[in-house]
Amino acid sequence: MKEVKRILKEIISSIYPNKCVCCGEILDESSYICNNCNNSVERVNLDDVCLACGHENDECACKYNIFRFNSLVCAFKNTGLAKSAYYSYKFGKKQHYAEFFANEICNTINKCYSNINFNIICAVPSFQKFGYDHSGYIAKSVSKKLGLPFTDKLLSCVKKRKKQHKSTINERLHNVDGKYCANYRADNMNVLLIDDIKTTGATLDECAKVLLFAGADNVYCATALCASADKNINALRR
Ligand SMILES: [Zn+2]
Ligand SMILES: [Zn+2]
Repeated sequence: MKEVKRILKEIISSIYPNKCVCCGEILDESSYICNNCNNSVERVNLDDVCLACGHENDECACKYNIFRFNSLVCAFKNTGLAKSAYYSYKFGKKQHYAEFFANEICNTINKCYSNINFNIICAVPSFQKFGYDHSGYIAKSVSKKLGLPFTDKLLSCVKKRKKQHKSTINERLHNVDGKYCANYRADNMNVLLIDDIKTTGATLDECAKVLLFAGADNVYCATALCASADKNINALRR
């Protein structure tokens, strides 16, 4: 049976070979990214990161935002190769890229949250439960890789999402107000909250508020990407 599975796997991978998420180069089954892209993809420097806002210290955006989550880490900056891989994931619906982003998020968690015992992992929920749940796929994969429980039952999205990307920070804060609810108590829990991208942080902050109100002790966030602080600051000034 094992042999049949192995042969089947080989046939599938010869028809659909594993490719680099950035350039499409064919890779062995265990890799997500080729060496070249791995060396130039735009990661957040975790040795020089502000855990309050997820940006590198020289781009720290804390003076513009006060968040209710404990801390935030992001794997990539939303630019160049990382940005195009994310676009393929989100808009090209390449669901298997979730593994790549989850793998990078796990690296950030192992480095920055190594002393924290998480009780549960959840994702920022989307309004349509049966749609393409890009944050949920990443969170589920993170949960598998870390061996921690995942739930999509704790948080729900109760209001339809308005287009956020052209909104100012005030509009964003207003847009997400009352958008999420907790379906049961999360007393004494350390929650790991996953999202695909952090722009202003308003969405993560609102989910953290709901989780804390439901009794959670702490909410730690991790996202695949982080939009540049400059962009956030421009949004604030408009
Ligand atoms: Zn590549
Ligand atoms: Zn900061």
